[in-house]
Amino acid sequence: MAGFNLYESAAPAFRFPSCTMSESPTIKTITVVIPVFNEESGLAELFKRLGAVFDANSAWRWKAILVDDGSRDRSATLIANQQMSDARFQLIQLSRNFGFQAALMAGLEQARHSDAVVTMDADLQDPPELIRQLAEAWHKGADVVLAVRTSRQERGLRRVGFELFHRTFSALVDNPVEPNTGTFGLMARCATEALLDLPERNRFFPALRAWVGFTVAHVHYARQERFAGEPGQTFSRLVRYALDGIFSFSYLPLRMLTLAGLFIAGLGFSVGAFFVVRRLLGIEIAFTGFTTLVTLLLFLGGVQLIGIGVLGEYLGRIYDEVKKRPHYVIKPGPRP
Ligand code: UDP
Ligand code: MG
Repeated sequence: MAGFNLYESAAPAFRFPSCTMSESPTIKTITVVIPVFNEESGLAELFKRLGAVFDANSAWRWKAILVDDGSRDRSATLIANQQMSDARFQLIQLSRNFGFQAALMAGLEQARHSDAVVTMDADLQDPPELIRQLAEAWHKGADVVLAVRTSRQERGLRRVGFELFHRTFSALVDNPVEPNTGTFGLMARCATEALLDLPERNRFFPALRAWVGFTVAHVHYARQERFAGEPGQTFSRLVRYALDGIFSFSYLPLRMLTLAGLFIAGLGFSVGAFFVVRRLLGIEIAFTGFTTLVTLLLFLGGVQLIGIGVLGEYLGRIYDEVKKRPHYVIKPGPRP
């Protein structure tokens, strides 16, 4: 009689190919996924440095997928030209600007069957030369290799924002993102597939990568200045991205509301009891306290509106999930 196989009956989405490097002699493919938005001034340098890394490490088969996220400059044309002269480079063009996360997912989806995927920015803040170390860490048995920054180039408000977000986020979630890591890193096929099989719409790549788990290794590097051009991630977009991260990975804002409600209700009860007791004891209550009333009214109104806002943040995200819209739309064929 055939025995019951627990693993055979498991849902297919949770069965992955072996994550460790097999001893088979076939050359492993590593695909580098790069979202690109208005990066025309730095692309030639990126191709040069990436090409040199590929040439110098022939133990692996290399591919670069550059996802043009609706650039308004010549980025797509430059990538298409590069693809014509070097087949290791491939252009994926989105139909409009969907944002960094969507572009990254589009590239990862195309690279789903590579043995490993490297994710990095196009602006050369992540040095392509580090990819070799990432691949070596993978070769030694890591499934997820994180590039950890030993220095940060951001200054002023941006820097304060990044620090604040990292601290808040780490305190809020169960699987905190490693400090000083961003997009740059490598994932073995099993980790990529696990991440891509997650059904949710709201994507926050570093946290999802932390969520899927597997064996993690670290490689340290000094984050560079942007090679050319301006950051495409505006401050407001980064704030939205940060809020997405918090609301998609934590229920703590909801719990804090419950606690605030309990605290204010308790306070109200105590104040009420205080006045009832005074009355019973026959202590005169003066009919003053207009300022107190107005302050309390505004304070409670404010707390309730914050509560509705927090609920709205979750509700909006549930709405997004229910709509099931795709993350991105790919434009067919490269632009001539
Ligand atoms: N990017 C993108 N879509 C956008 C904005 C940015 O694909 O809407 C790309 C950009 O070309 C770069 C990466 O995402 O390769 C990181 O962007 P940026 O350098 O502006 O972000 P920062 O380094 O400030 O986090
Ligand atoms: Mg950058």
